[in-house]
Amino acid sequence: MAQTQVGTVTERGIELDENAVTGLKAALRGQIIGPEDPAYEQARKVYNGMIDKYPGLIVRCADVSDVIATVNFARDNGVLLAVRCGGHNGAGLGTCDGGLVLDLSLMRGVRVDPISHTVRAEGGCTQQEVNHAASAFGLSVPVGIFSTTGIGGLTLGGGHGYLTRKYGLAIDNLLEADVVLADGRLVTASDHENEDLFWAIRGGGGNFGIVTSFLFQAHPPSMVTAGPMFWNYEEAFEMMQWYREFSPAAPEDLYGFFALMNVPPAPPFPEHLHGRTVCGVVWCHLGPADQAEKDLADIRQSHPPLFELTGRMPYTALLSLFDPLLPPGLHWYWKGDFFREISDEAIEQHLKYGSQLPTLLSAMHLYPVDGQANRVAPDATAFHYRDAKWSMIMAGIDADPANDELITSWTKEYWAALHPYSAGGAYVNFMMEEGLDRIRATYGDNYDRLTTIKARYDPDNLFRVNQNIPPKP
Ligand SMILES: Cc1cc2nc3c(=O)[nH]c(=O)nc-3n(C[C@H](O)[C@H](O)[C@H](O)COP(=O)(O)OP(=O)(O)OC[C@H]3O[C@@H](n4cnc5c(N)ncnc54)[C@H](O)[C@@H]3O)c2cc1C
Repeated sequence: MAQTQVGTVTERGIELDENAVTGLKAALRGQIIGPEDPAYEQARKVYNGMIDKYPGLIVRCADVSDVIATVNFARDNGVLLAVRCGGHNGAGLGTCDGGLVLDLSLMRGVRVDPISHTVRAEGGCTQQEVNHAASAFGLSVPVGIFSTTGIGGLTLGGGHGYLTRKYGLAIDNLLEADVVLADGRLVTASDHENEDLFWAIRGGGGNFGIVTSFLFQAHPPSMVTAGPMFWNYEEAFEMMQWYREFSPAAPEDLYGFFALMNVPPAPPFPEHLHGRTVCGVVWCHLGPADQAEKDLADIRQSHPPLFELTGRMPYTALLSLFDPLLPPGLHWYWKGDFFREISDEAIEQHLKYGSQLPTLLSAMHLYPVDGQANRVAPDATAFHYRDAKWSMIMAGIDADPANDELITSWTKEYWAALHPYSAGGAYVNFMMEEGLDRIRATYGDNYDRLTTIKARYDPDNLFRVNQNIPPKP
């Protein structure tokens, strides 16, 4: 590609030299969207409505060749590069001001091998798309809890969800990845090829390159017994005490994340409970229907819920259960930490802030990360907290920008009250832009090796719009 000059930076982004953009356009099968394009306003948006950035250029790549051309263009022209898959990152790390967004959302092909139970997914897929394809063969891929989250950001940060206790994190089921590196080369990373890169991308985020294709191990079943049970907030202390003992000891077929939340004011939630603060657990049982029903019946009997919405359903239906409540464009501010235990003192803090949820949609969740995820050594992948039992998130959420300050300060205060009881670091996918110390705390003893691998694969830090691991000098 011819060397081109980048124009001046304006308020709305970089004004690229026309020749440079024409050269890139000619190299692409996908789309280029600039600030003057009618599609720009929609294309610049990410899931979190609080993020309001104006990239100079958005490139929707159609294939690996487009990704390589765009990486080469950004590097050769000194353009800030952000990479986007599902756009769900809370801190908005799938976009940037004044740079180039490499958008993978046209790359959504999925291919299932029903013999080896493996699923190959292009780098722009959502978790729902991957699981929709797998479900036709009675299989599921261990991902998160929400349908439209991108497989890219979720997997590269670790990826915990309904299948974690039984099958581990998303990265524990990653067999291979195709990666476009900062120098424009396409390489494969696996246990047999570019092993250091494979180690780093399993938890190290988008720091090392752009993953154009993931190969996952899938597992049966595709049908689960699942859904939420809710209890009165007055019982929350006792329920959290029960949950902290019950969950780690439960069979690994049974997963349940704990929530402090308000009952959403919409069907199928009972009208007389709309808006009431409750505590709850969202269950997912992977075992046979009769065993699942028996296990849930035992819980019901020992702790009769206020109401519940459990039943037999496809795993894909469970992933999209909360879609209508959390459409794109809501304003989010979230923070998190890992926990090895939940003390009575920590529960007291939870109940204090849980009783002050600033808006209807704001909530706190505790996601189990034990079971199979704990059986992997802390240095086997970049994901360090292999002895944690829960990954916590508190999220201030609202549609009204006027409440940004309210949801942000509640989240920060709640987090500050709980942090002293935590394992010390947070899940990288549950962080806002919180600085290098927090990133180091996330990776613990693995941090130093990550900086070495970063220096090898991306010495100039081209991939820096992420929870950035700077290259070792
Ligand atoms: C409603 C909701 C529910 C969630 N539930 C879960 C959950 O259950 N479990 C869980 O683990 N997390 C969950 N998350 C957090 C989620 O994992 C992170 O927000 C993650 O960053 C989203 O990935 P994305 O691809 O959608 O984001 P994007 O904003 O597109 O990207 C996030 C980061 O990943 C990088 N990236 C994305 N794709 C690639 C790629 N192919 N190659 C290289 N780099 C890439 C980007 O550069 C960016 O730095 C949830 C988030 C939301 C909003």
